[in-house]
Amino acid sequence: MTTPTLDGLRREGETFMESLSREYYRAQAGLQPEAHFQAIYARHAALTSEDALDLTRETFRGTTPGTEDRRSARLMLDWVAETRVSRALAELDEREIAWETNAVATLDDGTRVPYQRIAIDIANATDRRDRLALEKARARLVAAELAPLKRERFQRERDLVEALGIGPTYNATFAEISGIDLSVLAAQCEGFLHETQAMWDDIFREGVRDKLGIDPREATRADALALLRAREFDGAFPAAALEDVVKRQMAEMGLDATAHGHIIVDAAERDGKRSRAFCSPVRVPSEVYLVLRPHGGQTDYRTFLHELGHALHFGYTRPDYPFEFRWLGDNSVTESYAMLCDHLLHDPGWLRRYTELSKADVCPFLRAAGFEELQFLRRYCSKLLYEVALYGGEVPWDALPDLYVETLGRGTSFRYDTADAFVDVDPRFYAARYLRAWQLQALLTERLRDRFDADWYRNPRTGPWIATELFAEGQRELADELAKRVAGRPLTFEPLVRATEALVSAS
Ligand SMILES: [Zn+2]
Repeated sequence: MTTPTLDGLRREGETFMESLSREYYRAQAGLQPEAHFQAIYARHAALTSEDALDLTRETFRGTTPGTEDRRSARLMLDWVAETRVSRALAELDEREIAWETNAVATLDDGTRVPYQRIAIDIANATDRRDRLALEKARARLVAAELAPLKRERFQRERDLVEALGIGPTYNATFAEISGIDLSVLAAQCEGFLHETQAMWDDIFREGVRDKLGIDPREATRADALALLRAREFDGAFPAAALEDVVKRQMAEMGLDATAHGHIIVDAAERDGKRSRAFCSPVRVPSEVYLVLRPHGGQTDYRTFLHELGHALHFGYTRPDYPFEFRWLGDNSVTESYAMLCDHLLHDPGWLRRYTELSKADVCPFLRAAGFEELQFLRRYCSKLLYEVALYGGEVPWDALPDLYVETLGRGTSFRYDTADAFVDVDPRFYAARYLRAWQLQALLTERLRDRFDADWYRNPRTGPWIATELFAEGQRELADELAKRVAGRPLTFEPLVRATEALVSAS
């Protein structure tokens, strides 16, 4: 085999990413029965070779911090390392998917419920006894079968990453190749939990007592699922209007919702098509699929707007950028653009203009959204703190389940189950990307209001600015570099605290 070069890796990388993304799109859109990722990895074995790792690692080491070369080398190394680890874990991941498809939980009364349906049944159960019976069966099944699989997966992942020869530990390696300082983010999470504790205590007690009619001290994560499954406003978000309403708003903002024909909307009804909207960038920027199956309701609107944010980002990316700036990078950036779009549902003016929510319903809707937002933020802060310990290696594997229950319980006030300690984990610190995306989204929203007024989402000057200043750059910059460039400020939770306070006190 010939020795790899960086340009060779870029060319092959582009073909590889295109194949993976097309396979994902076709399987999830119901165009083919299943995805065959292993075959794609096998065709591009050079990308996961020892030579490719050595080349990208040594290139990275040979660059100077702060330079454009360093930026590019870091992205290439991060990607080669991730692809290599993902390939080694692919068999375990496939075993897990097969388990999820076939597993069945058995309730104490003998009723059998497929694993994949049980979370939905828990959220929909109006009688708390039914909910807890379902949850008990779910936790028993997960503890016996899924948790050991997942624990093995994370142990393997940690060993594989430590063997890459980049940093001494998993967390040091992550910090080096992602450019994200985990200790700074963890400290910010502690600060956020502390700062919003009083606000959360108030709305948590009220929400649990009024909406579920139970003692707040008794509330479990299963109750949280039921509480967040609020459906009273779903009628104001009709399925038939979704695509047109969003396209109209984008046009009013001066953005083409197809990004000059780059975004292909697949809204056709088809067997085997996933019910939640998703985005597949098959070629960046010229072939981006936005797949949906509208069924209405606020969750459907939120998911569609989120995925549209990703699609617009890919579709407006500069075509002349190298592979690594168009395809790779800090996913906090693309997640922040997705959140910028889905958080339009938190804007009273947007809700009045583009949904059928009545004037009287806007404030109750916003307060409910504030409860959900703060719950999720506190949950993600807690997840990050726990995941830093999980990957950190200082807490023994057997002690992690108790730490999980304590950390998540403290942050969310809901009682968690030890069974989920290895199941409720986002691999590779994806929670860190979401948290930084949330911070960036709140900062960008403030910036857009300052620059283009409170109704920035229908100001025809906003779209062109977003397209050139944000989307065109792909993910060349880290989220915090972007924050400094466009808002002159570092990433913090401050704008999010302000936005959340406004939501929960909407009147
Ligand atoms: Zn996303």
